[in-house]
Amino acid sequence: MEQLRLRLEGIRTALSAASEGLYAPPKVIAVTKTHPAQDILPLQELGVTDIGENRVQEIVEKLPFVREKFRIHLIGRLQTNKVKYIIEDVCLIQSLDRLSLAQEIDRQAQKHGVVMPVLLQVSPAGEEQKGGMAPQDVRPFIETVRRMPGLSVRGLMAVMPHTTDQVYLDGLFADMRTLFEQLRDEAPQGVCMEELSMGMSGDYLLAARHGATMVRIGSALLGARDYGPK
Ligand SMILES: *Cc1c(COP(=O)(O)O)cnc(C)c1O
Repeated sequence: MEQLRLRLEGIRTALSAASEGLYAPPKVIAVTKTHPAQDILPLQELGVTDIGENRVQEIVEKLPFVREKFRIHLIGRLQTNKVKYIIEDVCLIQSLDRLSLAQEIDRQAQKHGVVMPVLLQVSPAGEEQKGGMAPQDVRPFIETVRRMPGLSVRGLMAVMPHTTDQVYLDGLFADMRTLFEQLRDEAPQGVCMEELSMGMSGDYLLAARHGATMVRIGSALLGARDYGPK
């Protein structure tokens, strides 16, 4: 608990310093995937309100312990046939990356009488095989989904490529912020561009400097933990 407190304080202090004079410090989404519920619960006492999970099965298993305590963000690739299991339990689907998924979210949301907030996942480096649409595909995608009554577009999410090239990464974060601001200014009807989710354990300071509104932090907060052999 004490170690967790110190790590979280360190992260928050660093985020404030990195964004100071430029943007409001981003909100920390604690990425709790692979961590059992008993390791997650202390986060609540430390003021963490939002957690990120990337697997539907894992969300369903942890739900009895974390529901009512945290808002759950879905941050991983989502299979269309699993939308129905989480539609009432997550506060934000951050990984909307294709039309078939948008259609299923829309369908399930209407069926359950909810409007699902979503972020569009963008691949700033054009690595679409890793998930995320190319930056130039974002506008046409918005045009198609903005009238769907079951979902509400709230912003963009990005996962940066694995690289040690800080200059290249800096450019990608800057590009994401630019795209986000352009879309916000264009203000397409039915869209509310308010969240820019980017930055993980290895690059959250760079993300904060470039105006992320949310950072998704796993290992730097909770330590590394593998799924183990499949
Ligand atoms: C696992 C994961 C994170 C957190 O990664 P860390 O490097 O452990 O901070 C953030 N975003 C997504 C989409 C993830 O899958």
